[in-house]
Amino acid sequence: MDILVSHAITSAGEWNEVLLGHLLPRNVVEQILAIPIPMFAQQPDRAYWSGSQDGLFSVKSAFSLLQKQHVNPTQQEGHWKWIWKLQCLEKIKLFVWLLQRNRVLTNSVRFERHFATTPVCPRCEQEAETPLHLLRDCFHSRLIWESSTILPNTFFNLSFEEWLRRNVQDTSSNGALLHNWSTFFLSTIWVIWKGRNTFIFDNRTIPPHVLYHQASSLAADTRLALSTSVMAHTRSPRWVRWFPPNFPFLKLNTDGAMNHPSGSASAGGLIRDHGGRWRHGFATNIGQQSSYMAELWGCRTGLQLASELGITHLILEMDSLLAVQMIQARKAGEGLPSVLLLDIFHLIDSFTVCTIQHTLREGNSAADFMASLGHNLTQGTTFFPNPPDSIGSILHRDNMGTLFLRT
Ligand SMILES: [Zn+2]
Repeated sequence: MDILVSHAITSAGEWNEVLLGHLLPRNVVEQILAIPIPMFAQQPDRAYWSGSQDGLFSVKSAFSLLQKQHVNPTQQEGHWKWIWKLQCLEKIKLFVWLLQRNRVLTNSVRFERHFATTPVCPRCEQEAETPLHLLRDCFHSRLIWESSTILPNTFFNLSFEEWLRRNVQDTSSNGALLHNWSTFFLSTIWVIWKGRNTFIFDNRTIPPHVLYHQASSLAADTRLALSTSVMAHTRSPRWVRWFPPNFPFLKLNTDGAMNHPSGSASAGGLIRDHGGRWRHGFATNIGQQSSYMAELWGCRTGLQLASELGITHLILEMDSLLAVQMIQARKAGEGLPSVLLLDIFHLIDSFTVCTIQHTLREGNSAADFMASLGHNLTQGTTFFPNPPDSIGSILHRDNMGTLFLRT
């Protein structure tokens, strides 16, 4: 029997549960009901990266996948796990990983694999271009290293593996705020590699002092970016509360929840006015889905509800930092999350004003309550024009401006 996916979707844009129920076992139907159908956005079919939650490619997720596929148990995570802790750009981590596996295509590596007729270094034409020659011993590279005043003593004496490992793990700072040997070292080997490729492919020589300055500024930028993100994530104790919106705004809080160990997801949310008064709420039993999908699902349902209520000025508040960042950056990514995100972008644009903000879990406890409520409901969304009885004390605490200590 031929049946298209579109046959199983009703004219209201929902899964035809009755039809599916005739065709498929109940557990399969439940899995299908947990797949979001786009409300507005029609996207062409395409491949997406299944290695990460948001469907976007990242080097780390690629390595997690490689790790799972690894057959040789001696080459497991422990052997390259330290690479992830390096304080540098993802592409440099990848470069280090390739170096460590002798996969960077220097002339000697190409020669071994019969890709090249000679292993000789194209820059100095004196020795074989091994990774160590390329990055350290070639005099073009040596000039760059020797520009640094804090070169470790043993720097030119170590074997390649030892040299790489020791230097990337040396996080001594030499007193400078934005300095860290490992970051400088990683920036320098990257700049040397880029400079070498510019020489070969563009036939252009970048002078060593220019490369040294490129490496220093890359290292400083990296340190600055890391110190900012470290500060942003430092968990110092802070007081958290829910704030009512300013008139004429209404506030929508949404949340997702996972039911362990069943792995089923639910979502929920509520809309309140400037007096903290309940306007509407909902709870959704999603089925088997990820927590990120549950967050987005709750967000979409809440926005749709707000839109149907004719609300024009809306504040959307969630405690999923990833979801808030994706929405603020208007990044849909790929795969199932993108279905929800594209609908979310569309819905946001339907309001006169809609602002999105992140709150901590303690500031989102009413939405968390609604999301948990979803677990006990039948699959699908239940709407609450009036607050459910048991949420009363949470609403009261929010309205009183009760502070919660976040440690
Ligand atoms: Zn050389």
